[in-house]
Amino acid sequence: MRIAVVGLGPAGLRTAMLLKDKGATVHAYEASDRIGGRLQTIVEAGRPLFEAGGEWIDADHRRTHALAKELGCPLNGKPRPPGLVRFGKETCREDALWPDAADAVAEFERRSTEACAHLPKKGGSSEAKRLDGTSLAQWLDKCASTPRARWVLEAILRSDEGMDTRAISLLGWLKGYQLYLDREEGAMSAGRFARGTTDFCQRMLEASGVEPRFGSWVLGIRKSGAGAELMLSGGTREANTYDRVVLALPPLAASRIAIDPKLEPIQRTRARFALGSGLAMKISWEFDRKFWLDEGESGSVLDRGPLQQIWDASLSDKPILSAYICGVTCTEVPEADTVAWGLDRLASIFPSARERFVRGWASNWVRDPHIACGFSFPRLGYAMAHGDLPASPLGPLHFAGEWTAQWWGFIEGALESAERVADEMGS
Ligand SMILES: Cc1cc2nc3c(=O)[nH]c(=O)nc-3n(C[C@H](O)[C@H](O)[C@H](O)COP(=O)(O)OP(=O)(O)OC[C@H]3O[C@@H](n4cnc5c(N)ncnc54)[C@H](O)[C@@H]3O)c2cc1C
Repeated sequence: MRIAVVGLGPAGLRTAMLLKDKGATVHAYEASDRIGGRLQTIVEAGRPLFEAGGEWIDADHRRTHALAKELGCPLNGKPRPPGLVRFGKETCREDALWPDAADAVAEFERRSTEACAHLPKKGGSSEAKRLDGTSLAQWLDKCASTPRARWVLEAILRSDEGMDTRAISLLGWLKGYQLYLDREEGAMSAGRFARGTTDFCQRMLEASGVEPRFGSWVLGIRKSGAGAELMLSGGTREANTYDRVVLALPPLAASRIAIDPKLEPIQRTRARFALGSGLAMKISWEFDRKFWLDEGESGSVLDRGPLQQIWDASLSDKPILSAYICGVTCTEVPEADTVAWGLDRLASIFPSARERFVRGWASNWVRDPHIACGFSFPRLGYAMAHGDLPASPLGPLHFAGEWTAQWWGFIEGALESAERVADEMGS
């Protein structure tokens, strides 16, 4: 069987690996000039410095752990340490929250667990419609008794979901939360790839034996006999015809592909891609020393200001802090001088930052032409209308990528989607 895999992030790479094991002939098309997609380790002189995109592996992301082991990619198993929580001029510690915020977190967990136990079984029920039309923000409003506690909930959820909670469907979110119910304390952000995620991707590529066709921006897919052919940017039609095509793209990039209406009616294609594309970016700064340790801090901060969440992102001996910015705030970050803009704000949290600063990087995924988003989220009203669509194959077309998986938003979801697609192909 001849198969085209479009997109070489973790979903496409893992798909190529699994299809090779099935004896398929796989051709891989990647729009950019590198593999990894939203996984990108910034490396210098062979040493990993920090992650510009996906970074943390949760303890219960079992596929990721198993594959990392199989490919010989060690995970360092050092969880993100707790740090400061700053609400304007008020400060507390993440592991000793203000009482109103701690109550809100407990109330939120209680209500969410309870709601999961009573999730409507039938998609079309009036209760399902009500939950799908309720935003996660409205749910948080019910759990917090003070603006400060409400903000703490927002800060935690926004960084998890990669989007402001007012855009997120409560029904969709609860379906994801179900996966977390049997989690143990400390399962989240439990470790990182010691040599970086790019090394992990490189090993997947080697295991797949595929030669990537870089700079191949697929713009359209046309029916051709029982299979399909690819239309590339620049008006070229790829000479090969494929029995199957796997789109392993971010949700927004996938929505831009023109799919032949003979393969799928346009309305259905639109519905498939109506899932939310979150907004997420990082700014990273290198310093001449880990000054935060001198100040007795871990480097981790949750802040009400635009930098939102900061942590010690160093993968080697270079002292690096990264700020992780999600939601509409991403659109307010200036395009020019982003590092300096961020440093000004960082210095209001850690005054030594300016003096110790060496250099910095901005990784704005929203402005990346091939990615254009952070990761997917269940948009208000989406689950009811189209929830089952993203993953369903159509003739020769298959859909992979984090947004088609149960573990959406994660490397784990990208790998899960690859396994499903490989199963769809049969033996
Ligand atoms: C800032 C940030 C932080 C994150 N943090 C974490 C984290 O801590 N832990 C975690 O598990 N996950 C995290 N993620 C999510 C994780 O990075 C993604 O879930 C994962 O990379 C998705 O893999 P994918 O293969 O589905 O898509 P991608 O990695 O986006 O790969 C898709 C590929 O398709 C290519 N492409 C796009 N359009 C076309 C086209 N038309 N033709 C050909 N190629 C095309 C792109 O160039 C890209 O290489 C984070 C993401 C971001 C942005």
